[in-house]
Amino acid sequence: MANFKQHLTAGFIGNGVLVAPIVATGYITTSQATLLWFCGSIGSIIPDVDSDTGTAQDILFTALAFLIIYTLIENFGLNRSGLEIIGLILAGYGTGFFLRNIFQKYTVHRGIFHSVLAAIFFGLLTVVITWYIHQVPPMIAWLSGTFMMIGVFIHLILDEIYSVDFMNAELKRSFGTAFKLFTYKDWKSSLAMLVPCLILWWLAPSLNGFIRLWGDSYTYTQLLHHFLP
Ligand SMILES: [Zn+2]
Repeated sequence: MANFKQHLTAGFIGNGVLVAPIVATGYITTSQATLLWFCGSIGSIIPDVDSDTGTAQDILFTALAFLIIYTLIENFGLNRSGLEIIGLILAGYGTGFFLRNIFQKYTVHRGIFHSVLAAIFFGLLTVVITWYIHQVPPMIAWLSGTFMMIGVFIHLILDEIYSVDFMNAELKRSFGTAFKLFTYKDWKSSLAMLVPCLILWWLAPSLNGFIRLWGDSYTYTQLLHHFLP
């Protein structure tokens, strides 16, 4: 199994290589490129969120706690005393802590989060968040989701590569646990992820422009042309 640093490095490099020709062709701006690169890099660590002792869970749940605190202060922090603000911060932190405990209780490492279904879920979640909250154009929202998915795939492939013992030419016990379509044994978890996928698909913006661009062979000729100096 690859560790946090290896996953992040693979994500940084892999997504960077993919973003570079897209920005070089002028299809996206440099700040949009940074967003895509960021999404892909987060994707490359997100499957290990279910490892209770891992760095990925620490980072992602700390970020979630900050987001909750920020939302609470934004909505209820006006004209409050210092003590009340501290109360809001503690409430936000407590909620994050509570959610993490629930999450730890109901997830197992290398369960549903190491699957193609999870890649689709995080991809669609990214599309909806960037479209509704960051209000980027539909094309950029779909590209952000695609990069999130690519990041997750880079993670899954790296985990599988690490489960091959090249020196002794044999497979470790973990082989096949990282890259799967969904969790075959635990259909409840698979269903719990499939339902939000359908809702997110329904919430997502139109895919037409995205398909038009990426379904055209001219786009790839342009990418190749701009990849080389
Ligand atoms: Zn992993």
